[in-house]
Amino acid sequence: MLSGKVALVTGGARGIGSAISKKLASQGASVIVNYSGSKEKAEEIVEEIRAAGGEAESLQCDVSDFASCEALAKTVLEKYGRLDILVNNAGITRDGLVMRMSEKDYDAVLDTNLKGAFNMIRHFSKAFLKQRQGRIINISSVSGVLGNAGQANYSASKAGVIGLTKSVARELASRGICVNAVAPGFIATDMTRQMPENVRESLKERIPLGRIGSPEDVAETVAFLASEQAGYITGQVICVDGGMAI
Ligand code: NAP
Repeated sequence: MLSGKVALVTGGARGIGSAISKKLASQGASVIVNYSGSKEKAEEIVEEIRAAGGEAESLQCDVSDFASCEALAKTVLEKYGRLDILVNNAGITRDGLVMRMSEKDYDAVLDTNLKGAFNMIRHFSKAFLKQRQGRIINISSVSGVLGNAGQANYSASKAGVIGLTKSVARELASRGICVNAVAPGFIATDMTRQMPENVRESLKERIPLGRIGSPEDVAETVAFLASEQAGYITGQVICVDGGMAI
């Protein structure tokens, strides 16, 4: 159980992030639901958590902006005095073949998916070190493990998240802070709903367990990594992908 713990979920209002926010709150954590543009969605998730007896609030921040992340960290640490669980979930795709990929689309994906995680870790790590405990869980992707045609920018960002995870895990381990990555496969959210039907079908054929994952499948693993029971696991990448990366 996570009673008394404070958790921040970036992009916590939609898709996988909203399942993580609800799961951590159901385990007793006080959850800060971060959003970039989805204010109403974030308020809905907060209401849902409160209606179920949990604690939550929403806070706006564009994770790709270094100064905004610094301001968010300041707000959180002033209000709660601590952060126990940081889930770097916010992410975007701008798919396309590398020979046609614009610099703008490359940079946008790297700035949100990789720099966004760095920004948050950078501004919260001092607090984590002082507390001598904490969990950082970064959402990578099976695309970062295997690569994926049409996703050079996304795969690079998600492979980068794995390198970031392992390096920060080594840096913070002596203070008892565990840093891990979760690499989802093909999960039913807005991100994958926008794919053409034929791409979705061919992806489905690559899943040994034969079904598309749910946001809750990912949230369960994140909740485990946030729990006391996972206190001897750090620097790992756990694929929640129905076997895609076997
Ligand atoms: P989604 O439904 O498209 O949701 C994306 C979330 O990221 C939204 O909550 C969005 O918030 C937030 N976000 C985007 N840019 C942001 C920014 N600059 N600052 C703060 N928040 C931002 O996607 P999803 O499928 O749930 O994906 C969640 C994570 O899982 C991502 O990192 C994604 O790469 C990863 N993942 C997903 C799959 C999959 O199959 N779905 C597979 C592997 C990995 P706003 O709406 O407020 O902008």
